[in-house]
Amino acid sequence: MKLELRSVSKSFFSGGRPQKALMDVSFDTDFPHVLALIGPSGGGKSTLLRILAGLTSPDSGEVMIDGAFLPKAERELRAYRSRLGVVFQAYNLFPHMTALANVMLPLVQVHGIPEAEARGRALQIMERLGLADHADKHPLQLSGGQSQRVAIARALAPKPELLLFDEPTSALDPEMTAEVLKLIAELKESHTPMILVTHEIGFARKIADRIAFLAEGRVLEEGVAAEFFADPRSEEARRFLAKVLAY
Ligand code: ADP
Ligand code: MG
Repeated sequence: MKLELRSVSKSFFSGGRPQKALMDVSFDTDFPHVLALIGPSGGGKSTLLRILAGLTSPDSGEVMIDGAFLPKAERELRAYRSRLGVVFQAYNLFPHMTALANVMLPLVQVHGIPEAEARGRALQIMERLGLADHADKHPLQLSGGQSQRVAIARALAPKPELLLFDEPTSALDPEMTAEVLKLIAELKESHTPMILVTHEIGFARKIADRIAFLAEGRVLEEGVAAEFFADPRSEEARRFLAKVLAY
């Protein structure tokens, strides 16, 4: 899947004043690979991820998917979104449903897969993610790490073409962070194309093939991860890396 952004800008109004989240962002990326979006907080990473996921529409500029303009009509956007798996910081599981039912839900409701088949597929992916013993539990009975793995199972079950993560470990304690990062590393081993917003820079360095570095609403660098970490070109990236890799 090829994603292209052409001069994309996005502002939000907060306190009556426009806050520029993205300013004239252009770049393209041709999956399969792992792309990590990194940079200081407030730099526009989540906004960029949501635009790429078809969840937020830009104020101006264009998004192209495999050479075609991303549709603006909700119905067609839904078709695009159904090709993706998205995992957010807060797992967003339905509390009144079991883990299994949460994983089954998009299979049945978005993809129209019959209940019995959806159950089989959900159980299979939960088994693979070490969640077989938790299938009948409700989210409140799960740890944060387990909940996030259920959210990842839910995103993976429909076999998405691309997985998008927005700071999937930032709500977790260190032990559970390790558990989720290990799972993401395994997904990379199985060649799942991913976009990963993360503040775990050591992890990004380990698993990303490419890096996009964002600060103040701009993509200041985009390129091969090893080259970025060996020799960042922008002063902002140098400063950022010096700060986060210093300890
Ligand atoms: P990051 O993920 O890199 O921390 P974001 O994309 O979340 O950055 O935010 C970029 C800027 O846009 C920030 O100044 C943020 O406050 C603002 N912003 C993002 N989303 C919203 C929103 N829904 N409402 C108001 N302001 C927002
Ligand atoms: Mg963010």
